[in-house]
Amino acid sequence: QLYLDRISKTKHLNAFLEVFEKEALEKAQALDTRVQKGEQLGMLGGVVVGIKDVICYKGHKISAASRMLEDFTSLYSATAVERLLAEDAIIIGNLNCDEFAMGSTNENSAHGPVLNALDTSRVPGGSSGGSAVAVQADLCMVSLGSDTGGSVRQPADFCGIVGLKPTYGRISRYGLIAYASSFDQIGIFGRNVADVAKVLQTIAGPDEYDSTVSTEKVPDYQSLNNKSWKIAYLKDALMHPGLDAEMKEGYSLFLEELETAGNTVSAADFAYLDYVVPAYYVLTTAEASSNLSRFDGVKYGHRTPLKNLDLVDFYKKSRSEGFGMEVKRRILLGTFVLSAGYYDAYYTKAQQVRRLVVDKLSEILSQYDAIIMPTVPSTAFKIGEKTNDPIAMYLADIYTVLANLGGVPAISVPLSRHSNGMPYGVQIITKQFSEANLLSIAEHVM
Ligand code: GLN
Repeated sequence: QLYLDRISKTKHLNAFLEVFEKEALEKAQALDTRVQKGEQLGMLGGVVVGIKDVICYKGHKISAASRMLEDFTSLYSATAVERLLAEDAIIIGNLNCDEFAMGSTNENSAHGPVLNALDTSRVPGGSSGGSAVAVQADLCMVSLGSDTGGSVRQPADFCGIVGLKPTYGRISRYGLIAYASSFDQIGIFGRNVADVAKVLQTIAGPDEYDSTVSTEKVPDYQSLNNKSWKIAYLKDALMHPGLDAEMKEGYSLFLEELETAGNTVSAADFAYLDYVVPAYYVLTTAEASSNLSRFDGVKYGHRTPLKNLDLVDFYKKSRSEGFGMEVKRRILLGTFVLSAGYYDAYYTKAQQVRRLVVDKLSEILSQYDAIIMPTVPSTAFKIGEKTNDPIAMYLADIYTVLANLGGVPAISVPLSRHSNGMPYGVQIITKQFSEANLLSIAEHVM
């Protein structure tokens, strides 16, 4: 009830698309009855969770914040959702985001933008903006988002909270609406590392419904390791001209503090930073153009009301009406880079860049426990600031897409506050399936 009251008082933030009021209260009462009877609840007993509008919950609406899926109801629940429920979590509602998880500001939602609760003239980040604000404004305890190129870490950074993107294949993608399948991963928002670790413990692990999920055993994420760490920072990241000068100072200071606290901190070379954003946008738009071809107005999605069209015009109309601007841009771009004559110049090239990035990352991470770098080059943008300049918006993903290209786990934790009043975070990256170390280091630096 406390959370429901807060949600109804903060409607202007536009974080929730739907609140499952009746169901959440009934669940809370049922849990209470079980406690009265002396029953032991599951690991997330009574924990209030919000989920991004790209994660299926059976019998509940899901739209991917798109007109394309207006009035679509999930036919089954995502594995992550099943596991939350099995451990007695209370799912309180679904959360606004950029359409099909494409964006960095939550301004690409068919349901309107989400506002940053710390400064409502600013964006919360994206694409999981609603999931970030729901935790930031205390409208739920933890939330799920999805992170294809930073959509959990970047809004966590902009909102001053913790955001984790696990290793690719750590959490099942069954029931997650696909954007770019070889990058997508469900991620977790929380106000502290322990909460995030607990949710990861619950939802990670093998799943027969997702052939890309790893069979790697899920270790204990909750007993955090308190030792000194061998840390690398990327010179190219810290020296990048796009990085805000005041934040750069903040990071340098932070690295010094880490060293004083007994950790080893050294510079590592990573020469490919300027190539990661182009490679990311070539590969993800290619995958998106293929994934989104299923929304044809016949099997799925918005169907044009216009009559007497031939099949091709029917597809064109339905898709033109259903998809928003950014989604269309990406479908076109992705179709272009996959087309005969351009495939080798763009798609193959980007795959080669991805290979170089993977190899370089694993080389660095074989010598160090973690890489530390900024999460985003600036604090939260003003609403509307970047809407007319998609390239500038894409370039701001420079620090986050790295972990998705490499499939490695990464977390953003709050670091400091800028003189403009907004928070900013620091990003930690470790090697694949070393979330236990990642969370320990995050706790250590927080
Ligand atoms: N900002 C990135 C993009 O627009 C990240 C999206 C995501 O992680 N879903 O693609």
